[in-house]
Amino acid sequence: MPETIFARILRGEIPCHKVYEDDQVLAFLDVSPLAPGHTLLIPKEPAVTLDALSDDAAAALGRVLPRLCRAVVAVTGAAGYNVLQNNGSVAHQAVMHVHFHIIPKPDAQSGLGVGWPAGRLEGADGAALAERLAAAVAASAQ
Ligand code: AMP
Repeated sequence: MPETIFARILRGEIPCHKVYEDDQVLAFLDVSPLAPGHTLLIPKEPAVTLDALSDDAAAALGRVLPRLCRAVVAVTGAAGYNVLQNNGSVAHQAVMHVHFHIIPKPDAQSGLGVGWPAGRLEGADGAALAERLAAAVAASAQ
């Protein structure tokens, strides 16, 4: 795993505006927020992408994420929020350590802008794809 700025934050070598910490996760403010209150949640377990994370670390993130969302909404008063999690540079991941963005959406103009070039799922293709994915999920749980 490459050295990252988040690993340095975890080691206390670089400061951050800490929002929450326990033995498995750390949350802090994004240094370049899309909106005030933009918060990052990271596991202490080193992993580049979500699929590489242990079940334990994933569960720790899942426990804390809704709590952080509630706090962000309560403090910012945002009308909504986006949770974003990028994996791979092609998917806009810049820091190669798993992280979730919690991005307040104060109004339609600010916060995260999303392009959504939706296609159409055809019946037979959908059934075949879901079957293959289901088999892959079952295999990865073993
Ligand atoms: P991503 O494109 O999903 O990898 O996003 C990485 C995020 O990390 C960006 O939103 C950056 O602004 C943020 N970031 C980078 N360095 C720091 C830092 N030292 N403290 C807080 N946030 C940071």
